[in-house]
Amino acid sequence: YSTAAAIEEPIKPAVNVEHTKLFINGQFVDAASGKTFPTLDPRTGEVIAHVAEGDAEDINRAVAAARKAFDDGPWPKMNAYERSKILLRLADLIEKHNDQIATLETWDTGKPYEQAAKIEVPMVVRLLRYYAGWADKIHGMTIPADGPYHVQTLHEPIGVAGQIIPWNFPLLMFSWKIGPALACGNTVVLKTAEQTPLSAFYVAHLLQEAGLPEGVLNIISGFGPTAGAPLCCHMDVDKLAFTGSTDTGKAILSLAAKSNLKPVTLELGGKSPFIVCEDADIDTAVEQAHFALFFNQGQCCCAGSRTYVHEKVYDEFLEKAKARALKRTVGDPFKSGTEQGPQIDSKQFHKIMNYIRSGIDSGATLETGGERLGERGYYIKPTVFSNVKDDMLIAQDEIFGPVQSILKFKDLDDVIRRANNSRYGLAAGVFTQNIDTANTLTRALRVGTVWVNCFDTFDATIPFGGYKMSGHGREKGEYSLKNYLQVKAVVTPLKNP
Ligand code: ADP
Repeated sequence: YSTAAAIEEPIKPAVNVEHTKLFINGQFVDAASGKTFPTLDPRTGEVIAHVAEGDAEDINRAVAAARKAFDDGPWPKMNAYERSKILLRLADLIEKHNDQIATLETWDTGKPYEQAAKIEVPMVVRLLRYYAGWADKIHGMTIPADGPYHVQTLHEPIGVAGQIIPWNFPLLMFSWKIGPALACGNTVVLKTAEQTPLSAFYVAHLLQEAGLPEGVLNIISGFGPTAGAPLCCHMDVDKLAFTGSTDTGKAILSLAAKSNLKPVTLELGGKSPFIVCEDADIDTAVEQAHFALFFNQGQCCCAGSRTYVHEKVYDEFLEKAKARALKRTVGDPFKSGTEQGPQIDSKQFHKIMNYIRSGIDSGATLETGGERLGERGYYIKPTVFSNVKDDMLIAQDEIFGPVQSILKFKDLDDVIRRANNSRYGLAAGVFTQNIDTANTLTRALRVGTVWVNCFDTFDATIPFGGYKMSGHGREKGEYSLKNYLQVKAVVTPLKNP
């Protein structure tokens, strides 16, 4: 690994942090309590900036603004084409500010700058343009019901959407949430993750220039129990969307049920199998399996975190996977060529180190890595375990870190049974050159996405979401619109049928 970068003096980011207050009703405001909390640089653990700490009172203010913007308009009743143009202008402005936004994203998360600047912010722009295109293509049906009736459906926005996002892809998750909600004519109160409030506040300062009416999108920074939970319980919030851990997803679903039964979409954890068949192109499979697990410091809900390899190619695969991990460039995420930065924070760092210890204690073979890199920040060496068994904790729990677990399988029946033996069902990778094997696996796997001979191929048009305890509902693509629309049936007698 490139150890030097981790212990060098961190590169100074080329932006100033200017937006640190809550964004309510078109204004940046202090928290009602006046409290702030620090957001930290994962490279050092040092404070980047103090941001407003929203709580129940701020959620009340933001929901009132969103309610008013929904009930009094103009947003839900505006010409759909106007809504579309505002979303397109917002996309243009984000594109124009690409590098500043990517810099804040890297500073706050520790992810490689090149990844933020060349992949993630452009994906945000693409997604907003995609949903801008939907705004004037949402409409109901005319239905040939029995009897002399004219029957039609109206597809109407649900109302005020509460949205809670995680820290691993802050602005990308922001866009997955607001894109469909706003295109359908809803208003939004969004809570950012406490680790990563900066990029969404930066985008907030572009909303007025884009022409978004005040109150349509409100952004609150703060903690889960004190800002997230009041949003989930709020009687004036009509819909919730959440991305994060499965345990928090359960809590959110029950808060929604205990308050006003608002519908909830959930994107939760995963333990995705990555299946390498005996006829796979091994070099491609090694590279993609590496990417599937280590991308974004391993902090992906769909990470390919159970690498199942056919016994006939297991030794060759293992040797190459280990060599690839050893070549991975770990260091300052602002440095060009860095593949892996630090983990998000000390809590996640310790959680991952505990899983590594558990892997060793349970008898898996530590092939490489397994320890901290450098002395400051939250860097972890790319770690590969072989001889992993299905009943080990590292094969069952979501680690959310740079820890690859390689398991051996015998035949398709064996790997299908084992791949499906998980409480999660988010995604899977399948590597084979045989179309019949690919078809058998894609149909047998109980997951929301199967990538065949590729992994982590994301696009605004492709639905994403989980089976089982990986969540409810789908985001992106046309499917996401359903989450933000009510269907109203209108029945009128016909005088002269
Ligand atoms: P992690 O454990 O990785 O931080 P979480 O699922 O707890 O992941 O966090 C994802 C998001 O959920 C964050 O914005 C966080 O503040 C929020 N959150 C955490 N706990 C709650 C809660 N009880 N109610 C509402 N939101 C919460």
